[in-house]
Amino acid sequence: MTWNGIGIGDGVAVGPVRRMPTVESLADTPLDDPEERLAHAIDAVAAELERRAASAGDAGRRIVEATAAMARDPMLQARIEARMAAGEEPDAAVAGAVHAIAELLAAAGGASAERVVDLLDVGRRLVARVRGRRLPTLPESDEPFVLVADDLAPADAVLLDPGRVLGLVCADGGYTGHTAIIARARGVPAVLGVGPIDVRDGELIRVDAGAGTVARDTGPATAPHPIVVTGPAELADGSPLPVLANVGAIDEVAEALALGAEGIGLFRSELLWLEARTAPGRAEQSAAYAAVLRAARGLPVVIRTWDPSEDKPLPFLPPGLRGPRADETLLRDQLAALADAQGARALHVMAPMVRDAEEAAWFAALARGAGLRSVGVVVELPSLAAETANLAGVVDFVSIGTNDLTAQVLGVLRTRSRAGDASDPRVLRMVERAIVGARSAGLSVSVCGEAAADPRLAVLFAGMGATSISVAPPSRAAVHRALARVTPAQARAAVADL
Ligand code: PEP
Ligand code: MG
Repeated sequence: MTWNGIGIGDGVAVGPVRRMPTVESLADTPLDDPEERLAHAIDAVAAELERRAASAGDAGRRIVEATAAMARDPMLQARIEARMAAGEEPDAAVAGAVHAIAELLAAAGGASAERVVDLLDVGRRLVARVRGRRLPTLPESDEPFVLVADDLAPADAVLLDPGRVLGLVCADGGYTGHTAIIARARGVPAVLGVGPIDVRDGELIRVDAGAGTVARDTGPATAPHPIVVTGPAELADGSPLPVLANVGAIDEVAEALALGAEGIGLFRSELLWLEARTAPGRAEQSAAYAAVLRAARGLPVVIRTWDPSEDKPLPFLPPGLRGPRADETLLRDQLAALADAQGARALHVMAPMVRDAEEAAWFAALARGAGLRSVGVVVELPSLAAETANLAGVVDFVSIGTNDLTAQVLGVLRTRSRAGDASDPRVLRMVERAIVGARSAGLSVSVCGEAAADPRLAVLFAGMGATSISVAPPSRAAVHRALARVTPAQARAAVADL
């Protein structure tokens, strides 16, 4: 029996099935008494981390032990209790207390600031526990497995660890949804949108991402191994066309560089805060952004301000508004935090979902007012794509987000999008218009949607005048090779043939 779906990546994974536990099977009945609920949550989270520490190797043990100790920290508990005494619900009290301490650690800098990420992890686990859920929600297993799920919540998707999860199969999900983006970035072969699939826990299955198929296993396992092509990307005549990386987690930055990325072309900042009940403070944010910049070792980094969407909502932002309009006060905080992290480094900051040149000017003024030196916008709404020529002197660069642009032009949901959608001539003409307009305005133009990872489309974008490309790190090698095979004239001719 073979199931067909949307393949993400080109690896093959064979392994035993582990089904995603349903929420019901995870739920402990939350205790009525808030104090008991908190005490129970602290115990459960610390005990789970202690168990993991005991089975971790030497290198990991001390780190996990220290994280477990954070969960039992009396100062944290006292702060949570004080908030509860003031009338906050336990989950809000945990989130508030954790973020307040994270702010203090971040402001202290140095080794203290490095603990912020661990503290936030503890906070996420505690919040889930007091709500009667357990984290991580991915199944427990002593051996690596193929994860089978209906779809993954963004907060679960970010836990995908290629060391544990060999492959991923989802009943739902589209080519440019959050699950696809994260699986691609982590190099986990995935097949999405296969519909209901009747495989049992422990059964061996084969996930062939290149073919977009899932089958009961018949052959030997093929370990996916990313191909590394280092050195700057260039066209056949030697003209440079840097291929940067799209990432959404601090540790993905170093992984991207190891796969040859010439910088970070898109850091999706919302992926850092998916579980935050309250908005992260300025110091906590700037510690995270500084960690991104440090990991990039002086290469250029483009951080996108957060982009809450239906696909990946941020609990502390109002639903329904995307891009810089979601909440101006919080946007100002984020820009200030980015400016704090910037120092002398090559940080570029862009806003998603900008509607037109006027809104781009509003955002650029805010960002420059905060002290940022290089400001851009993501072109992913047709209304802005049509007027990139008017961005001269308004922003420093643009980046084309083909994922949203494709969905907007074709009128499809991203969670139902298919691999070929972006090759539709209506989409490509819109991309061309945006690139040509931006170049006429003297701006550099990157293409950062998933379409850029398709070698054929990357060549077209080069022919249209893109000055860089940004893709999920495991896709870089194929794009790099495709670009090296064409001259600028050939790339332009391919565009003329469209
Ligand atoms: C896009 O829309 O193409 C993009 C790069 O951003 P995201 O996928 O995060 O919406
Ligand atoms: Mg987008």
